[in-house]
Amino acid sequence: MIELLTPTQIDEMRPAGRFVADVLTQVSAAADVGVDLLELDALAHQMIKARGAESCYIDYHPSFGAMPFGKVICTSVNDAVLHGLPHRYQLKDGDLLSLDFAVSVDGWVCDSAVTVAVGTPREEDLKLVEHAQEALDAAISVAQPGNKVGDISAAIGAVGRAHGLKINTQFGGHGVGRTMHGDPHIPNDGRAGRGFPLKPGLVIAIEPWFLHTTDEIRMDDDGWTIRSADGSRGAHVEHTIAITDDGPVVMTARTG
Ligand code: MG
Repeated sequence: MIELLTPTQIDEMRPAGRFVADVLTQVSAAADVGVDLLELDALAHQMIKARGAESCYIDYHPSFGAMPFGKVICTSVNDAVLHGLPHRYQLKDGDLLSLDFAVSVDGWVCDSAVTVAVGTPREEDLKLVEHAQEALDAAISVAQPGNKVGDISAAIGAVGRAHGLKINTQFGGHGVGRTMHGDPHIPNDGRAGRGFPLKPGLVIAIEPWFLHTTDEIRMDDDGWTIRSADGSRGAHVEHTIAITDDGPVVMTARTG
């Protein structure tokens, strides 16, 4: 079912967006050489408790999951690109780290992701992150009332292909509201002008992710972490967007 929110409900959702942005800003800033992924998870957890928010991840146990996620943030390093389960690992110089975070504040969920280089960045990693960001910006610009979900998908796919990337469409964007994942599904490639109409009140997470040299993925034995099949690195960026009469509003914009 697709839920459309009233302008008042979208306003009620703003604190969740601001908090998600704040956590990603602080956890990104803490992600340095020698810092353990479990420390980053602990920092996010501490912020959730201090805010009186509720993690969407810790008890998350979908049918494909072997067990509940058990952590509050996804940390995907290098060839891991999605759903990285935090584990004992100290970040190294040149690592590429994706952070994906969804949380509920006052009953409203927002969801966002960012990819950052740790220490000295590799040129090709910066480019991949830039391409993912370009795809997200292009997708947001067409998230306008009167357009369709397919316009968002096509915008992401066009940017990826323009940079010579192959695009995996297994995991993509989704509706967000009272819960983390709702309809519609928003594939990261598709045909413009097709699919569900983007109506005012629709709130969606848009999340392009790209791998350097493949569109094939495999899952770790932890039952969560998704990696490229060929070991190439990945970048993932995501914002929660509200479609309004005045155009798209980025609920999870980071100011700092
Ligand atoms: Mg997310």
